[in-house]
Amino acid sequence: MIGTTEHYRAYRPRPLKPEEKEKVTLIFGGLTWKHERLMQAVLENAGYRAKPLPQIKREDLDVGKEFIDPGACCPAIFTAGNLARFLKDRVEKEGREVVKDNYVFVTAGACGPCRFGQYHESYERVLEGTDLRDFRLFLVDILKMEQEEGGLEITTSLTLGLLYAVFMGDLLTDMEYATRPYEVKEGNTERVLKESVELAYESLRKKPVVEGKWKSLAWHILTSHFVKTLRDIAELWKEIEVDRLRVKPKVKITGEFWLQTHEGEGNYRIKQWLEEEGAEVIPPPIAVWMDYLMHMELWKMEESKDFVKRYYLKKYLLKFLIWLYHLTYNRLRRSLGNIPNPLPPQEELKRLADPFFHFRLAGGEGHMLIGKALYVYFNKHAHMVCELSPYGCLPNTMSAGAMQAVLGKYPDLLYAPIEIKGDAEVHALSRCQMILTEAKKRATLEFEEVLEKTGLTPEDIKNYEEENTNLKSAFLKIPHYGYAGTSANYVMYIAKKMRRV
Ligand code: SF4
Repeated sequence: MIGTTEHYRAYRPRPLKPEEKEKVTLIFGGLTWKHERLMQAVLENAGYRAKPLPQIKREDLDVGKEFIDPGACCPAIFTAGNLARFLKDRVEKEGREVVKDNYVFVTAGACGPCRFGQYHESYERVLEGTDLRDFRLFLVDILKMEQEEGGLEITTSLTLGLLYAVFMGDLLTDMEYATRPYEVKEGNTERVLKESVELAYESLRKKPVVEGKWKSLAWHILTSHFVKTLRDIAELWKEIEVDRLRVKPKVKITGEFWLQTHEGEGNYRIKQWLEEEGAEVIPPPIAVWMDYLMHMELWKMEESKDFVKRYYLKKYLLKFLIWLYHLTYNRLRRSLGNIPNPLPPQEELKRLADPFFHFRLAGGEGHMLIGKALYVYFNKHAHMVCELSPYGCLPNTMSAGAMQAVLGKYPDLLYAPIEIKGDAEVHALSRCQMILTEAKKRATLEFEEVLEKTGLTPEDIKNYEEENTNLKSAFLKIPHYGYAGTSANYVMYIAKKMRRV
């Protein structure tokens, strides 16, 4: 029997009509619950109904493998499986027709050599596999401020609102990880964090909608709306009591974008696990990656300046945008007492990585993986680096290979590369634990060294804290005196206050 040939047709979603805005729910995911909650607020502010996908579960990896190429990188499989699980569940509860008409999946994409440029292809396989090819999936270009994706109107107000959501999500995450390991009463950080996210959510949801591209741009640059919100949030953190004399190794998380950002079963809950093992974690802000993307545009332009029309105008415009980006991030940081970490200087990351990895080898984190490791090492920002490598990731394999040369040159750098493929948790964590043991020793040595140098004992410091109870507040910026650990820097801070050094 001769069968009929069905030709391949590229996926094209049906447009989203303006009158559908009321009943359609935009679904999205891929970040932490904090970032997603804040992005939900911005989408609601723009008049959409929005809902984050459920948190990633280990089973998403198995579900994802049923639908997409099992040789794909693990973030692609996890996120595809997550979408499939959501769709199957909704179809079961609400029926196929309701799901296809009442939900729209929005995902980010960009051009590039890695799978990030093809995530939407994987999601399309999910739609085929779940018999939902008529379900709508919109791909949003993260490098454009205004665009229209099949009726999904991405305005300046929405884009800049999302940028604030990412900034606030990053800053609150930094507050969380800097506080929780030292909290005196267990659970206080979690409680205050949830309240903070809700305050930020309301602030974003109720932000004024300023019409017009330029007016909206000006409002988002000049507004103190979010600064005020963060100042209110700061009041909540002041109430948390901490004990900074707990000696903890500081662990900087690096690696592939999705894996390092994620907080859950998709990366063996590595950040939570490290805290349970007695470490303080430095989480990676999403803002660093966006800063990297903007710098990449600048460096590429500089390299090919002879072929760029109006080169100087474009170059200084982009430099101005980057300056504005940092200015805004730092303004928000200041509202939280400068406790969240500053963004690392991109030029410096590139310079440090340069002998080992050319910046034009883009894809994934590119040269940043090496640049960040060397940056924290030389500046003593952490005792060790834990790098999360996804199984099946080409860019990461290249950076991890080059990292061997870095470690050959700087054998003192404590580096724990963890391969994440979903089913080798014990192996990965035990490997991390070996390096963590060494990091703990370094943190203790450093703490003892600073006690000796200042002539203080932990009892002296406790007594001083009793007389100055504000020192026990989580809302206190401890300057960096060249030690990696919080407790060592804290001892030096107290010694200076007591005029011992
Ligand atoms: S960087 Fe690697 S893990 Fe991330 S999307 Fe690209 S290929 Fe996949």
